[in-house]
Amino acid sequence: MNKKIAVISGDGIGPEIVTEAVKVLTRIEEAFGHHFEYDFLLAGGSAFDQTGLPLPSETLQHCKEADSVLLGAVGGPKWDGLEKHLRPERALLDLRSALGLYANIRPVKLMSALRSASPLKSAILEKGLDLVVVRELIGGLYFGERKTYVNSKGETEAQDLLVYSESEIRRIAETAFRLAMQRRKIVTSVDKANVLDSSRLWRRIMHQVKEKYPEVKYNDMLVDNCAMQLIHDPSQFDVIVTENLFGDILSDEASMLTGSIGMIPSMSTGSEGPGLYEPIHGSAPDIAGQNIANPVATILSAAMMLRFAFDMPRESQIIETAVEKVLGKGYATADIHIEGKTQVSCSHMGDLICEEITVLAKA
Ligand code: NAD
Repeated sequence: MNKKIAVISGDGIGPEIVTEAVKVLTRIEEAFGHHFEYDFLLAGGSAFDQTGLPLPSETLQHCKEADSVLLGAVGGPKWDGLEKHLRPERALLDLRSALGLYANIRPVKLMSALRSASPLKSAILEKGLDLVVVRELIGGLYFGERKTYVNSKGETEAQDLLVYSESEIRRIAETAFRLAMQRRKIVTSVDKANVLDSSRLWRRIMHQVKEKYPEVKYNDMLVDNCAMQLIHDPSQFDVIVTENLFGDILSDEASMLTGSIGMIPSMSTGSEGPGLYEPIHGSAPDIAGQNIANPVATILSAAMMLRFAFDMPRESQIIETAVEKVLGKGYATADIHIEGKTQVSCSHMGDLICEEITVLAKA
C-alpha cells in the first residue's frame, strides 16, 4: 500500500523520537511491502528560526495533502519570550484547528512489564488500568478570546474565554460513545458543572447523546473528583470524555500511572482529512540532544496511525507487541524506573523494537 506521511519533528527531543518512529515505519514497509513517502516539514520553534513563522503555509498545505501527519513535539525556553502568535505552541493550535481535529484520543494502558514503574500500589493495579481519554481539542479556553489589559484601578489584568457550542459538544460526545461501544461500554463525562455554565451545557448535551447508546453505562464526574479517582481506582474508567483544558491535565496525570509520560501515544481526528499522530508529552528541553528520550510514545503513535488511518491492524499490532516484548526483556530508557533494567538510549530502543518487528513479521 502507498501512503504519504507528513512528518514534523519539531523541537527539543522531537527530532530524536521522530527518527525512531520513522525507523520503525521503514521496518514495517520492508516487512510488509508497503511504500510510505515521508514529507519532512517544519513547524514550531525550529520553523520560526528558519522562516520567521511557527507554522509556515507550506507546512500546512503539505499536511492537508498528506494521508496522515506524524509529529514529535514543539516548544522550548528559547522561544518563550516571543509574542503569542509567533510562539511554537501556536503552530500546534493552528494545525489542529486548520485540519479540524476536534477529537484527541489518548489510550492509557499499563503494560505488564512496567507494573513496577507505576507509582500506584499493586493492590490498585491488580484491578486493571486500561482507559482512553477523549479530549475535545479545538474549543474551550485554548481557543477562546484572550487579552491582557490595564483595568480601571491601573492594575494589569488578563482573561481567557471558555466557549463551547452545542454542536462542538455533540460531536465529541458521539466520538466517545462510539469508541465505548468498541470497548467495555462505559463513558465517564468529566466537567465542572457545579460552577461553570459551559460545563452545564456540556452535561446537558452529553445526556442527550447518551440516550442513543442505551448499552453504554454513563456517569458524570466533576473534574476534581476525577483527578482523585484516577489515582484511587483507575479500573473504574473505560472512556473518559472531557473538554480541552481538563483533558490536557487529566491525560498527563493518567499517563504517569503507566510509568512514564514517554509511553503514551495519541491521535487527533476530525470529520474528514488527515489525522495527526503524536506523543502526549512535550519537547522535553531538559533532556534534548542527549539521545536519552523515550521514543515509545511516538512509535506507538505511528502504530495508531497504521491501525486507524491506513487500516493496517496487523502491522499496528506487531509494533505494539514488539514494544511490549522489548520492555518485557528489561530494556528501558532512563525515564522508566523498573527493577533490574538494562538502560538503553533513544536510538537503541528504536533498534531493539525494529529487531522484534522483523521476528514477529516472519512468524
Ligand atoms: P514535557 O512533556 O516536555 O516534559 C515534562 C517532563 O517529562 C520533563 O522532565 C521531560 O524530560 C519528561 N519527558 C517528556 N517526554 C519524555 C520522553 N519522551 N522521554 C523521557 N522523558 C520525557 O513538558 P514541559 O516540560 O512542561 O514542556 C516543555 C515544552 O514542550 C514547552 O515548551 C511546552 O510548551 C511544550 N509542549 C509541547 C507539546 C506538544 O508539542 N504536543 C505538549 C506539551 C508541552
